Amino acid sequence: MKLAARVGRIVPSPTLSITATAKSMAAQGIDVIDFASGEPDFDTPEPVKAAAEAAIRAGFTKYTPSSGIDELRGAIADKLKEEQGLQYDKSQILVSCGAKHSLYNLAEALLEAGDELIIPVPFWVSYQDQTLLNDATPVLLQTREEEGYTISQGALEAVITPRTKAIIVNSPCNPTGATYDRKTLEGIAAVALRHDLVIISDEIYEKVLYDGTQHISIATLSPEVAARTVVINGVSKAYAMTGWRIGYAAGPKPLLTAMANIQSQSTSNPCSISQKAAVAALRLGNPFTNIMVTEFDRRRRVMVERLNKMPGVTCRMPTGAFYAFPNVSGLLGKRWKDQPIGSAANLATYLLNEAQVAVVPGEPFGSDIHIRLSYATAMEAIERGLTRIDAALRRLS
Ligand SMILES: *Cc1c(COP(=O)(O)O)cnc(C)c1O
Repeated sequence: MKLAARVGRIVPSPTLSITATAKSMAAQGIDVIDFASGEPDFDTPEPVKAAAEAAIRAGFTKYTPSSGIDELRGAIADKLKEEQGLQYDKSQILVSCGAKHSLYNLAEALLEAGDELIIPVPFWVSYQDQTLLNDATPVLLQTREEEGYTISQGALEAVITPRTKAIIVNSPCNPTGATYDRKTLEGIAAVALRHDLVIISDEIYEKVLYDGTQHISIATLSPEVAARTVVINGVSKAYAMTGWRIGYAAGPKPLLTAMANIQSQSTSNPCSISQKAAVAALRLGNPFTNIMVTEFDRRRRVMVERLNKMPGVTCRMPTGAFYAFPNVSGLLGKRWKDQPIGSAANLATYLLNEAQVAVVPGEPFGSDIHIRLSYATAMEAIERGLTRIDAALRRLS
């Protein structure tokens, strides 16, 4: 059977597959510690569960409008207005099966063969593969760890061609935990205006911030910038609702209409029950998220401090999201027995096999000298897992 060429260009999501390996090791009775999965360990808040139960009992179990129920689109519009000062009509808001699906609808509506999408490196794994699935070309924009992974106007200008269509902005960033300040966002916006680019602003970690860092949506810089920006967000990370699959996009009407049409012909509406749950989540406001983020903050400090004490490891303090992204270049070239540890991928395999700790190697994020560890996991697991990693690294020669 001959498959479409596009499927040959992509790989399964590496974060999901490492998490699956860790889970299957655990099912075999192996005491594996999972730093790979990218989701809060907190339970979904009670009022959200209650809203879902009520929806089931009330028989709210049928198709909904394909773009999402009015109530949820209204709640999203209110959220964007109250928290960001952004004004959208409901017709400019599309609810999908997770922010990943929002991004996929966007890639399909926007990109075609020959188009280039600028992706700052390191990047979240799916930006690249979703671009490839839609026949377009990812253009990787290198950023520097020493500069906090920031983007300068000059560096951005240097990768622009007549085929550049859009740029990804992901602040706070998965995997680096970096956040962009206003000046950086203004630089990106200026280049986007000059070259007529669409800005794809993935703000899923908007509420997961530390050390007083403020979230700035690039769409808020000016009406001209908002007119070319698609804001992507969802309830997965802020409300510990990864399994409910509700994300959304807000942006210019012609683009959002095209995305809605694609969705209506592919998945139809996101789950009716989850939509009611998402309304309840958005009504919770920030108290739940703040409690969770306070706990993440405690774990962040412990994890980063301990990583920095390990031989060959240096780790920047993230200002957002829930990942440590340590630089492990000091370990590359070492050996375990007769096996060389030549890459982050080798190191991740070594840690999984010899220390029973799952981490994600940097390669799928565009770096072969980093690994990613989530601290959205219990403090006890963090302590135990880091002790194991430390011991394992000291066994390398
Ligand atoms: C988790 C994540 C998403 C997708 O979240 P959904 O669960 O699909 O809503 C999108 N972007 C980034 C950077 C993420 O880490």
